[in-house]
Amino acid sequence: MAHSNETVRIVQATDACLDVDIQTTFMPAHDGHPEGGLAVKEGHLILPIVRKTDDLFKRKFATVDRHPLGHISLASSYVDHKPFVPLHEYPLLGMEWWPIIIGAAARFSPEQFLDYLTKVKVQMLWPDHAIEGTPEGELHPTIDRGAYLHVQVKGTDPACDSYSGFFDNLKRPTGLDETVRKHGVKRLFLRGLAFDYCVGWTALDAVALGYEVFIIEDATRSVDMADSVEKMRKDLDAAGVKVIRSDQLRSF
Ligand SMILES: [Zn+2]
Repeated sequence: MAHSNETVRIVQATDACLDVDIQTTFMPAHDGHPEGGLAVKEGHLILPIVRKTDDLFKRKFATVDRHPLGHISLASSYVDHKPFVPLHEYPLLGMEWWPIIIGAAARFSPEQFLDYLTKVKVQMLWPDHAIEGTPEGELHPTIDRGAYLHVQVKGTDPACDSYSGFFDNLKRPTGLDETVRKHGVKRLFLRGLAFDYCVGWTALDAVALGYEVFIIEDATRSVDMADSVEKMRKDLDAAGVKVIRSDQLRSF
């Protein structure tokens, strides 16, 4: 892993932080907030680190995960399917019974489902989380929305999930890259949830788009299923994403 203990000095003109999905939906019960739909272990412990590092950045961007009920990523959209089990493309192809697994709540057609799964190959099924119209589909209440130059909402298309803030899972751009680039940003410092999914995917896309990318490790936590953390660490390392701690950051 690309860990280094070097001090990293923030250059206000060309550095920005990108906060990925800092929402109660990804946190256990804390400070009067109920347990989130997709609570990541210790997810709330990023909040003090986020506050501590906030003043370093003049430019800040954020993403918010938000889904309608009946979304393609939710286990509740399918018949007899449990959360945290991946839905694979291959057992479904060539069979005539696959539409029957789509539940009454689904907001996508059998045709959209098959087309999507053929393209993404695998979709992890999640518990209901980040549901639009509820507090879970918003930034954490202690986060100041006005401090961001732009908040990119993702995952609202019922027929497509979106881990990355830059592209949805069908690789369609969200528009975030254009917005960030317009502000002259060259380096991105990521905080948020969860490391092995939305933070990691956002970091990989950011590198591919030409940004230098840092993940502030104590400002993130993982879902941590099977080999998800180890695999993401390898992918990030291969891509050149740097993982640092908040105490390595200095203002200029
Ligand atoms: Zn989601």
